[in-house]
Amino acid sequence: MAVPRALGALADVLLPPLCVHCGEPLPTARPGVCRWCRATLRPLAAGCRRCSLPRPGSPADCGRCRDWPSGLTAVAAVRYAGAAESIAHALKYRGWTHLADLCAAAMVDALADRPAGLDVLVPVPLHAARLRERGFNQSALIARSLSARLAIPVIEALVRSRATRSQVGLGRAARRRNVEAAFEPRGGLRAGARVGLVDDVATSGATLAAAALALGAGGAARVTAVTFALALDGSPR
Ligand SMILES: [Zn+2]
Ligand SMILES: [Zn+2]
Repeated sequence: MAVPRALGALADVLLPPLCVHCGEPLPTARPGVCRWCRATLRPLAAGCRRCSLPRPGSPADCGRCRDWPSGLTAVAAVRYAGAAESIAHALKYRGWTHLADLCAAAMVDALADRPAGLDVLVPVPLHAARLRERGFNQSALIARSLSARLAIPVIEALVRSRATRSQVGLGRAARRRNVEAAFEPRGGLRAGARVGLVDDVATSGATLAAAALALGAGGAARVTAVTFALALDGSPR
């Protein structure tokens, strides 16, 4: 698929910037989302107080976060669907890294509802081989934008010590096995730190739970996972 990809990259440079979701031409220098698609980015409905999964009724018996390590809570800015899905995809797979700031802006709003008292932001790391292949870690880019907006420092306090297969298409238990022990602390956290764990998209939370365990081993007292989008149907990863 090398040729179509190269042509796509060429088109990105030569054609006027388009909305990454609906294709509407934009009055901006770079691709992004048009105002109509931006207006569809709505905060998640109120849900589980621990993991933010929108659900009617009581969050007391939430199946998503029942097995999470203690000390881990999660917020997400928007539902992984429509324009949000296009933004996350364009950031990660088309290399439109400037979209990280759009994600971060939405995440600031999500955090505003939950005064988290964060000491430090830690991005979910990529394995070194994946980082070489992609050239950037989208979660680290989002963390950097969040850092600038919230005045909270970023520490790359985790390392992905084990290459994992994509979570796409895996069931809940398989997702957990796939990322188990995938992360290790690499130092830099002070004991008792309140960490904001930054990622682009969350589904079952298996990745967040595995990363939170490693952060706990590295000294974190509390982890608030902050993601741009939450996939409700378990599809992307
Ligand atoms: Zn649009
Ligand atoms: Zn929950």
